[in-house]
Amino acid sequence: MPLLELTNLSKSYIDPGSGARVPVLRGVNLSINAGESVAIVGPSGCGKSTLLNILGTLDTPDEGQLVFDGESLTQSNAKHLAAVRSQKIGFIFQLHHLMPQCSVLENVLLPTLAVPEPHGDAQPRAEALLEQVGLKDRMSWKPAQLSGGERQRVAFVRALINQPQLILADEPTGALDEANAAALTDLLLQLQQSSGVTLVMVTHHRAQAERMGRVLKIHEGVLSPS
Ligand code: ADP
Repeated sequence: MPLLELTNLSKSYIDPGSGARVPVLRGVNLSINAGESVAIVGPSGCGKSTLLNILGTLDTPDEGQLVFDGESLTQSNAKHLAAVRSQKIGFIFQLHHLMPQCSVLENVLLPTLAVPEPHGDAQPRAEALLEQVGLKDRMSWKPAQLSGGERQRVAFVRALINQPQLILADEPTGALDEANAAALTDLLLQLQQSSGVTLVMVTHHRAQAERMGRVLKIHEGVLSPS
C-alpha cells in the first residue's frame, strides 16, 4: 500500500482582479511509497507549492482524494489534520522559520511540544541528529549566530524530531548559493536514507531534483514523469 495517494485532485484560485476562477491543478494523480524520495519540478507559478500544501494538509483541494498512511483525509476536520501534521509530517520551507529567541536545541525540540506522546526521549535524539548534521557544538547558539546553511540544517533536524513518516520540503535550498545548496541537498538525502522517511521536495534546481529517486513535473496543471 502506498504511503500517499492523490486521486484526480484539482485546485483553482479566484483572480482578485477579475474575480475569474483560475485553475492551478487539473486532475493530479500521484502515488508515493514509504521510503521514496520524489522531486516536484516545473516553472514558477505552475502549482508546486499549492500541491505540496495540499499534500501537507495545509490547503484543501476543490476536488479529488488524498489518502495518507491508509486514511482518507479529504473530509477530516481541522483538529484531526493538525494532529496528523504534528505526528506524521515534517515541513521544511525555503526560509528556516527558526525562533530567534530560542537556542538551536530548543528550536529543534519545539515540535515535540505539539505531540501528546513524543517517541521516546526527544533530547538525546535531537543531540544525535544535530551531531549528524555537524552542529553538535552549536546547540546552545541562537539562530542569528549561524550561517544561512547552518540555520537550514537546524530546520532539517527540527523536521525530523518527531520521527515523521513524510518530509515535505519547499525549495529548501532556494535561499542559498549553489555550492551550499548542493551540499544541503546531499545532507537532506543522507538524513532521509538513514531515517527511512519519505521525502517530497519542490525545487526548480534541475541538478538537485536529479539526486532524488523520482522526478515529476507539473505542466498545465497535471503531474507527469520528467
Ligand atoms: P509555484 O510553487 O510552482 O511557484 P504556486 O503553487 O505558488 O506555484 O502558485 C500557483 C498559482 O496559483 C500562481 O499563479 C499563484 O499566483 C496562484 N496562487 C497561489 N496561491 C494563491 C492564493 N492564495 N490566491 C490566489 N492565487 C494563488
